[in-house]
Amino acid sequence: MTGKTHLACGIFIGSSLSIYYGEDIFTSFTIVSLCGVASLVPDICHFKSNIGRKLFPLSLIIRTIFGHRTFTHSLLFLFLIFWGLKAIEAPEPYLVSIIMGMLSHIILDMLTPRGVKLFYPINISVKMPFVFRTGGVVDLSLSTAFTAITVVLWWKDIYRLFL
Ligand SMILES: [Zn+2]
Repeated sequence: MTGKTHLACGIFIGSSLSIYYGEDIFTSFTIVSLCGVASLVPDICHFKSNIGRKLFPLSLIIRTIFGHRTFTHSLLFLFLIFWGLKAIEAPEPYLVSIIMGMLSHIILDMLTPRGVKLFYPINISVKMPFVFRTGGVVDLSLSTAFTAITVVLWWKDIYRLFL
């Protein structure tokens, strides 16, 4: 999937979580931001991706050591991040937002023909029974759909918080 679709999905999930957890505008904003950024993090292994370009030397190092869509797209990586967040005693809404954002990335990449190495270091590509081309019609439709639902959620949230 394209970075745009990942981000749209992350912001959509963050918006849903903010309705569930957000008591004030600051918490809501933090949840949406964390989830949006987290939805891009797995592609840190891809130095041509948005996040990879921003963190260039690091992304190249990760790519060289692990390869694309391996470690950073695995349950092991998710677990390490979860464990790290637990260790620093991250508040539950933020922890859930980060994990859900990253999980959404991995699930979306499982919808592409290449799949992901979900059980890294075990070298099996995991993908859904139905897959779509990155940048294709489904990819584009998904990002549009996520954006549309997000607008509705925001409208409801603004209504709930301010009106
Ligand atoms: Zn990816």
